[in-house]
Amino acid sequence: KTLVTINNINKIYQQGQVNTHALQDVSLQIQEGEFIAISGPSGCGKSTLLSILGLLDTASDGQYVLADIDTKTLNVDQRSQVRNKHIGYVFQSFNLIDSLTVFENVALPLEHRGASKKDIKSAVEKQLAAVNMTGRLDHTPSQLSGGQQQRVAIARALVGEPDLLLVDEPTGNLDSQNGDAVMQLLLELNRQGTTIVMVTHDERYSRMAKRQIRLFDGKVLVEQQEAVA
Ligand code: ADP
Ligand code: ADP
Repeated sequence: KTLVTINNINKIYQQGQVNTHALQDVSLQIQEGEFIAISGPSGCGKSTLLSILGLLDTASDGQYVLADIDTKTLNVDQRSQVRNKHIGYVFQSFNLIDSLTVFENVALPLEHRGASKKDIKSAVEKQLAAVNMTGRLDHTPSQLSGGQQQRVAIARALVGEPDLLLVDEPTGNLDSQNGDAVMQLLLELNRQGTTIVMVTHDERYSRMAKRQIRLFDGKVLVEQQEAVA
């Protein structure tokens, strides 16, 4: 089933007299269950594409359909509702809240939805078990290693059972051992059915994805689909 259809989107950042054409006529379809890696040199538009996919930003023109919703028709409130329901987002710098415990961080998306205490508890515990962080419920993020923080951030992104998990340089702030572990976790989550789009400039990791998209100067330069064994 098709989850995402992007047709000919452009993104132009305007700052005074300077225009940056960050994305140029990018088209893309994403099917449920895919694992896509987006790679390319710094400044080629990876983060811009991911933030448009995540409804954190809007394209300057073109079409973006997510789960049969034409996102152009949404007002600001509807955009955040669609984002909360359909998208999980993982940032390079984790973006966990240090005044909250691990449990409370992961619970946040469900608190926003007004879920019951009981439902929150079972969903948070289930998700922290899935990322192998069960023993750290009452720690704060600063008491965890980078790899552990990233696993908590992944749990938070998945706790609302989104259709699409977007990850921006998930291994960028990690040493190679923790980076490998986070990558293995993403691969396992994908095997269990999570649709993932990951931005990375690390070829070791992009090669592990089922489908690889390379951007250059805001355009799709190469697309590769692995023959799945
Ligand atoms: P990447 O993630 O591949 O490094 P980005 O998507 O962040 O690339 O950026 C693409 C281009 O758009 C770059 O030239 C960058 O400087 C520019 N850019 C990104 N964000 C902004 C912004 N908020 N305002 C102006 N220019 C931006
Ligand atoms: P990351 O790729 O790690 O997610 P960012 O998205 O913050 O990092 O930035 C990516 C690129 O976009 C950088 O080269 C940065 O200089 C540029 N950029 C981000 N925000 C702006 C902005 N407001 N104005 C100009 N350039 C920006």
